[in-house]
Amino acid sequence: MRIGVPKEIKTLEHRVGLNPDSVLELTRLGHEVVVETNAGVGIDFTDEDYVTAGAKIVPTAADAFGADLVIKVKEPQPQECEMLSEGQTLFTYLHLAADKRQAEGLMKSKAWAIAYETVTAIDGGLPLLKPMSEVAGRMSVQVGAHCLEKSQGGRGMLLGGVPGVAAAKVVIIGGGVSGFNAAQMAVGMQADVTIFDRSINRLEQLDALFKNQVQTVYSTAGALADAVQTADLVIGAVLIPGAAAPKLVTRDMLGTMKKGAVLVDIAIDQGGCFETSKPTTHDNPTYIVDDIVHYCVANMPGAVPRTSTVALANRTLPYIIELAGKGPKAALASNPHLLEGLNVAEGDITHEAVARDLGLSY
Ligand code: NAD
Repeated sequence: MRIGVPKEIKTLEHRVGLNPDSVLELTRLGHEVVVETNAGVGIDFTDEDYVTAGAKIVPTAADAFGADLVIKVKEPQPQECEMLSEGQTLFTYLHLAADKRQAEGLMKSKAWAIAYETVTAIDGGLPLLKPMSEVAGRMSVQVGAHCLEKSQGGRGMLLGGVPGVAAAKVVIIGGGVSGFNAAQMAVGMQADVTIFDRSINRLEQLDALFKNQVQTVYSTAGALADAVQTADLVIGAVLIPGAAAPKLVTRDMLGTMKKGAVLVDIAIDQGGCFETSKPTTHDNPTYIVDDIVHYCVANMPGAVPRTSTVALANRTLPYIIELAGKGPKAALASNPHLLEGLNVAEGDITHEAVARDLGLSY
């Protein structure tokens, strides 16, 4: 099968749908991979790297979009939708539910569009969203540590302290994928870590995994209010599937916190779990409210596109091998979890929840 990898065109997007190692896996299986020139240049995956992996470099986006199976990262922009047509399959993040214009563009193309974010796993999880939560979780501690520096408005504290000086107190709200990854980094930096969650099962798992390296606490409003008063860094990592994030740290609570403490709101893409959160960008990631530093970047993985590209490609590759090997129709028919990813096919919306959110028929 001919697989196309266009260069991403959204502002400041340096990720790319396939890294050279994934391309090599596909070309070894006999597939033809065409990569738009300079698709990976922003993260030092050169055209030569792709050629060495067996890809052919093509000069324009239209050439990459001419393939049977198109692999991207971000949702297609209007001019990209126009390059798709009947008989083609697109595999990428779509986030269609709030994007009627894109939905119409994809429907008009008559192509099949499979969204990474709605592919499911046997355990009910979302395996192609997971790598980005892992990246955001790990990054949250890195950025939180930086925000604690005096020059950033923080308390002027080192996360792990030094011999003779206490470590910073890190409170992680939500112990799922991103919260777990945040805890791993915070423990590694020798911070004093507490994880809050609403799921007792999850707290049991975290307790068993971290042993005495973290405290686990059942998340109630009272317990959280107590914890934020002494926290140096609070990381918001909650998710209630299909709903806006609950506001767990209120504006009033900021007044009880230590001056220069830091809030990192990973859940900002679901509206944020702190009352004072508002989305920020990598250009200007922080702001201060009531002496508390806020970091609320909605696309954290975009700051580390090299890691994010490889993390994503590692997870998408098995599905791409299935789609290319069997052909999209047969692959979707034989894999109900991949079929959950199908959002648009031959002019129709094929995902019930997406159709409902768009107010379209299903
Ligand atoms: P997850 O489902 O793996 O974990 C969420 C956890 O929150 C669960 O363990 C759940 O029990 C817990 N929870 C729910 N309500 C709670 C409450 N009131 N108190 C404490 N815990 C509670 O989710 P995830 O993959 O870790 O994602 C978390 C959030 O991060 C999501 O909103 C996701 O979209 C977002 N995210 C943001 C970025 C970014 O760049 N900002 C990147 C990736 C993911």
